Amino acid sequence: MNLRIGYMYGKTMNIYGDRGNILTLVNRCRWRDIQIEVINIEVGDKLTAGEIDLFFWGGGQDREQILASSDLKGDKAKILRESIEDGAALLAICGGYQLLGKYYKPSQGTELDGVGIFDAHTIGSNKRMIGNLVVETDRLSGKLETLVGFENHSGKTHLGKTAQSLGNVLIGFGNNSEDRTEGCIYKNAIGCYLHGPALPKNPMLADFLILKGLQHKDRAITKLKPLDDTLELQTHLSILERIKNQR
Ligand code: GLN
Repeated sequence: MNLRIGYMYGKTMNIYGDRGNILTLVNRCRWRDIQIEVINIEVGDKLTAGEIDLFFWGGGQDREQILASSDLKGDKAKILRESIEDGAALLAICGGYQLLGKYYKPSQGTELDGVGIFDAHTIGSNKRMIGNLVVETDRLSGKLETLVGFENHSGKTHLGKTAQSLGNVLIGFGNNSEDRTEGCIYKNAIGCYLHGPALPKNPMLADFLILKGLQHKDRAITKLKPLDDTLELQTHLSILERIKNQR
């Protein structure tokens, strides 16, 4: 069982520690003796239908998003959409997330085409939304839990009528600092503004992605071998406490 992770634009879109999410996915698979392969998908690289079980796409500034948006035109975006429809897992953070909607209009410059996985669009604003972010969600396990991270974006993401948010903002700005939503989830694809990296301190999100990625290979898989997440959960809770006390 070789889980294949597609690391989108890792050389150009990797800000605020987002590469740490790849390290987390690799380690949490290795700790479970799951064979894993990370395939770098950079500008100009081909994407083969059905090849990837789990995509990861980090954040980046507008200039890198322009490069990625033009690289995705045509087949690459189509294969990405088809992969998500086929049940592949995906996590995209901030700049990556913004380009998975219908379009991203930076505050300076022309509108960038999105992949259209999420029924959402993003408009650059003159306000940078920076700070700690705490989200409440039941989308991952059915039970209510929190996700913690750090956000830094000027883009305001607005969800369309058919879109489902990842969760509600308890502390921070989230999608657009107006409707208290954060992120978007469609099938097994998740976009959000949780930089940091997010996965080391949100093991439930990491395992959601790994399980869905494995199920993309073999629908008979129903659960993952549990790990001792004492340290991860202590980190999560200490960050949560620190953020709450800072208010
Ligand atoms: N350039 C985008 C924005 O400012 C994304 C930034 C990011 O990925 N942190 O909203």
